[in-house]
Amino acid sequence: MPKKETKEKAKKKEKGSHEYYKIEGQELKRLRPSCERCGTGYFMADHGNRYTCGHCGLTRYKQQS
Ligand SMILES: [Zn+2]
Repeated sequence: MPKKETKEKAKKKEKGSHEYYKIEGQELKRLRPSCERCGTGYFMADHGNRYTCGHCGLTRYKQQS
C-alpha cells in the first residue's frame, strides 16, 4: 500500500527555483542563461546589458539582434 499524502503537504508551494524559470502555457522558458564554465545549474545574474556568473565571475554580454 502506498503512503497517503496529506492535502496540506500537496498544497504547499515550493520556492526557490521559480525565479529562474518562467512557465508560459506548457512551455518552460529559461529567464537566465546558465554559466558556460560552471555548467547548467549555475545561473547568471542579469546586469542590464550583460550577464555575470556569481560563481566564477564570468561575464557574458547580451547579444543584440
Ligand atoms: Zn560560472
